[in-house]
Amino acid sequence: MAQDIIPCATPPVKSDWLKAYQKNPNAYAKAGDTTLYVPVTIHVLGTDEGVGYFSVPQILESLCQLNEDFSESNMQFFIEGEFNYINNSAWFNHSTIATGYEMMISNNIPNTINSYIVGNAAGAAGYNLPSANAVALLKSNTANGSHLWAHEIGHNLSIQHPFLGWEGNPYSYNSPTPTEVYYNYTEFQPVFYTDTIIIDTALVEYVARTNCYEAADGFCDTPPSYLATGWNCNSDASSIQLQKDPDNVDFRSDGRNFMSYAANACNAHFTPEQIAAMRANLFSEKPDYLYNQNPQNAAIADAPQLIAPTAGEEIPLNAIHLSWENTPNATRYYYEVNRLASFSPAFVVASGVVEDTSAEVEDLALNTTYYWRVMPFNEGNTCTFFSEGESFRTGEVVGVEQIEGVQTANIYPNLLSTGQSLYIELTTNQSLALQANLYNLKGQLIQPLFNTDIHGNFSTSIAMNGLSAGMYLIGFQSNGNIFYEKIIITK
Ligand SMILES: [Zn+2]
Repeated sequence: MAQDIIPCATPPVKSDWLKAYQKNPNAYAKAGDTTLYVPVTIHVLGTDEGVGYFSVPQILESLCQLNEDFSESNMQFFIEGEFNYINNSAWFNHSTIATGYEMMISNNIPNTINSYIVGNAAGAAGYNLPSANAVALLKSNTANGSHLWAHEIGHNLSIQHPFLGWEGNPYSYNSPTPTEVYYNYTEFQPVFYTDTIIIDTALVEYVARTNCYEAADGFCDTPPSYLATGWNCNSDASSIQLQKDPDNVDFRSDGRNFMSYAANACNAHFTPEQIAAMRANLFSEKPDYLYNQNPQNAAIADAPQLIAPTAGEEIPLNAIHLSWENTPNATRYYYEVNRLASFSPAFVVASGVVEDTSAEVEDLALNTTYYWRVMPFNEGNTCTFFSEGESFRTGEVVGVEQIEGVQTANIYPNLLSTGQSLYIELTTNQSLALQANLYNLKGQLIQPLFNTDIHGNFSTSIAMNGLSAGMYLIGFQSNGNIFYEKIIITK
């Protein structure tokens, strides 16, 4: 599949806005060197069965790379809302722009850059679709140091390929270079329709820069390039392939530009004119995107210390609660439970993103060793790392009914709001000294509940006042043994 993927399916066309801007760039506000913060909504597509998601660590790494790629532009992106998981096989694996358009207009969040991470992006590594104002990214081409996201957001903020016009037109050194090239942008109008074929003309750019403001992308600091398929570069980031302009002047393309099709390893920057256009585009065409110029983006210096469970301790299968220490500047945590100590991505059995410093894990197997770890982040800074891994082993379910002498036990509700009463009803067939205490997940005593002798029927109700929301354990102690039941307090 990989060799058939085209690098980008974004329309090879300058928007009306870009044409107007390039006639008089100085007339547009750009706010100098002020950092601009731009929200992105991250849509993670999967199949109808919920398989195939781009993983959270990959999202975080890719967003970190995006912000690094835009740091010279003084533009930074932050996560708007939660990751939006969408289970839809047709959208996840879409082979046409028309299906991608439907996915985008059905899910876009206004005034953010909507980014859809999919398993097939209409046969391309990615594209920006003007009619839907959103970008699609092929998950296999997005992580591991890829600059694809920067490339597509460049398009979203108006800038074009330096080789504009050559898309779909193969270049040959052995043929005379034309002065004009033609391209089809039928599916990429500001309004989506496909019933009229639209062909436009682009002037071919000269090495001498005599027509650089009219030809190709309209920027004079992006030198000519005619390479519209993926290409590799020399050690100075220039193309291995030699080209010649219509005056027969030889040149090589500049692979540093994120908007070229050079391999990721060649890419390093946007040019000053590209940066100026993207900033002007935000102020002029998308000012509503600039609603939050103070997102949490402080760097995260440390991964959290894991509190429990640790060191392979055995935990009853019905009481597996992960807890870790608060990390300065983190507002969210990704936790992961894995079958292997190597944390191989293929062996993740449970994972999630939480704002709290604890998580409940269910549906694990009995008598099995698991490994877990946590990655802290915040909406504006995802350049982060995992904690050390810890392990635990799942054991038999234990509860008050395992106490010798207890015949029946009824503890309810186990999900209750603060102030509501918890009911405990027990039947025993022998005399029993029983003590019950409320603990938090760290095993710290919150309050004693009762300490009494029971024979036959016992029932009590306890008002759950003054507790913050979260999970708690009730420890029943008898003859030196302790058995736990969990309850959850909601607000
Ligand atoms: Zn592109």
